[in-house]
Order: sequence, then structure tokens, then C-alpha cells
Amino acid sequence: AIILGIESSCDESAAALIGSDRSILAHRLAGQEDAHRPYGGVVPEIAARAHVQVLTPLIEAALNDAGLTLDDVDAVAATAGPGLIGGVMVGLVTAKALAMAAGKPLIAVNHLEGHALSPRLADSSLEFPYLLLLVSGGHCQILRVDGVGQYRRLATTIDDAAGEAFDKTAKILGLGYPGGPRVEALAKTGDARAVPLPRPLLGSAEPHFSFAGLKSAVLRAAQSGNYRPEDIAASFQAAVVDCLIDRLEKAIAQGGPASHLVVAGGVAANGAIRSALEALAARHDMGFVAPPLWLCTDNAAMIGWAGAERFALGLTDPLDIAARPRWPLDPAAEAARGAGV
Ligand code: ATP
Ligand code: MG
Ligand code: FE
Repeated sequence: AIILGIESSCDESAAALIGSDRSILAHRLAGQEDAHRPYGGVVPEIAARAHVQVLTPLIEAALNDAGLTLDDVDAVAATAGPGLIGGVMVGLVTAKALAMAAGKPLIAVNHLEGHALSPRLADSSLEFPYLLLLVSGGHCQILRVDGVGQYRRLATTIDDAAGEAFDKTAKILGLGYPGGPRVEALAKTGDARAVPLPRPLLGSAEPHFSFAGLKSAVLRAAQSGNYRPEDIAASFQAAVVDCLIDRLEKAIAQGGPASHLVVAGGVAANGAIRSALEALAARHDMGFVAPPLWLCTDNAAMIGWAGAERFALGLTDPLDIAARPRWPLDPAAEAARGAGV
């Protein structure tokens, strides 16, 4: 089957044509960095307006790249949440219109499921179940992935997401937006032992995350004037790595056997984090899968692929399905810990 995938949940507009044999027939992506840069972060109204302007041309260009028309597509998949609601609605309404016009089924994809299944697009040998570290701009979770739609959340952040911490550190250091890649680049020239920074929740019994205290410590270190920015960046990145590895050690001990450790989400593009995870997997005799960098940050290929996985199971959605600003992968775990966690 061939799936048209559409992504618009944050500040990337994207369209892809994905085969259920894992072929990436086309992928077009338009970032909005320039539009948001003056504000130091994503402005929801600007994002929604930009999606309106570029999404339809991107879809046309992707179809053109693949040499296909809408008639050749078997289903239309779009992110239906979670994310900035204005942008999500733009993508979902576009998908509904195309599905209705062409008489094709609609698949409403959870953006987090797109991230969670993206390693299976990258690596055909990756089977369920696997242990997943989902680290992105809005989320930091450890999940056991038992199948499509079957997610057990073992850990989440009690305050900030890891990507958020990278972005705030970038802002504090004056590196600008988007922050993660800039912090990583600066950290390469710094000394990771130069700045004493906390490792929140290290060693605690439950494998949850916390990054708010680390961000505050970065701010104090920067304001003290005692440290070089590259040393702060390197020390910050090392602290994040230590937290991720410690919490994953706990989750591996508690989560039941899984043959593979898998990482997904924008922060998975970070080289230091990828190396540390690869070493962790080796210590536990687990295979390690990390998608290529372009598939870690927001894209439409992962939405098309999640659509292909759902389509193969007959999981399509009615045309009146609503966009959801919040949409946890494991609703039971979310309810148990209460809103916002
Ligand atoms: P979510 O998926 O939770 O809704 P999002 O879609 O905004 O959030 P992604 O696009 O998956 O998030 O990831 C973006 C995040 O990844 C940003 O916080 C960005 O700083 C971070 N990031 C991207 N590249 C790197 C990198 N090389 N090192 C660290 N962080 C990075
Ligand atoms: Mg982005
Ligand atoms: Fe994302």
C-alpha cells in the first residue's frame, strides 16, 4: 500500500509518500525557523498560518516527486495530535479534504506514535516488543512498545522535557533557536567536567525524569560569569546523558525483557546521547536502533509509516474525528499520575 503522510503539529510542515514495504517514495519538509527566530521560540499563530500557506504545495510537490496522483494513494494519514492545536487542525483538515475528494480512508495518527514507530521504518528487522526512549521537544518518556497502539509507559518527566532543557540552555547561552543542535555543536569544544551541575532524580527508585532543576543550575552557572559557554554546554549535555542512562538502567531492570533498546524523537539526533545509549544497550546485550537524524526530528515520513502500520491492521478513522492538543500514548499511566505528568 502507499500512504500519504502529513505532519503539522509544531513548526515543521511536511508531506511524504510511504510504501508499506518501507519505501520512501517522496518527502518534502518546510521548516519555519526564520519566522519564529525573532521570538526565540515557536509562536502558535505564526505556525498555524505558515502551515496553511505551505502544506498543500508540499503535498503536490511530494506527489510530483513520486510520480503519483492522489488516485494511487491507498490512505491519507495526518497527525491529529498532540501538538499546537492550530497547526494540527490545518494538517488534519487538509487530510480530511483529500480523503473525501479521492474517496480514500483517513488515518488519524498520534504524533508520538509516529516517533515511536519511526525506528521500524528505518530498520526492517526491528520487531515488537522493544524498550523505547522517546525524547523530544515536548516529551521525555520510557515506553515498552508491545505492538502498534500498545504502549506501556514506564517513565515520564515530572517537569520539563529533555528537548525543552536543550532549548532553554541554548537561550540562556544566547545560541538562539532552534537550540538542541547548537548546544550539541558548542559542547564539542567544551569540557564536560568544568561546571558542577545536578543530576536530578539520579538513583531514585522510580525511573522518572526531571530537568527543571538542571535548567536553573545552568542559568546560575551562566549568570555567575565563572564559566565558558562551551564548558556549560558540555557539562549540561553530560548531565542529561547521565540522567537518561541512569533512568534507563532502572527501566531495564523493571520493565521486563526486551531484545532491543530504541531511541526516537528530536533529541535522538544528539550524537553524545546516541553513543551513550549504544554503549548501554551493549552492556545489557540488547540490540540498539536509532533512526537517521532526519527521521528523529519532526517529519512526515514517520506519520506516513505509522499510517502504513495502522492501515495494515485495518485501523482507519471516521472523517469527523477531532484534533487533540493532548493525546497520551498510554492513557492509563497518564491518568494514574494526574494531568500534566
Ligand atoms: P513532541 O514530539 O514532543 O511533540 P516536538 O515535535 O517539538 O515535540 P521534535 O521535533 O521531535 O519535538 O524534537 C525537537 C526537539 O529536539 C527540540 O527540543 C530540539 O532542541 C531537540 N533537538 C534536535 N536536535 C538536537 C540535538 N542534536 N541535540 C539535542 N537536542 C536536539
Ligand atoms: Mg521543529
Ligand atoms: Fe515531535
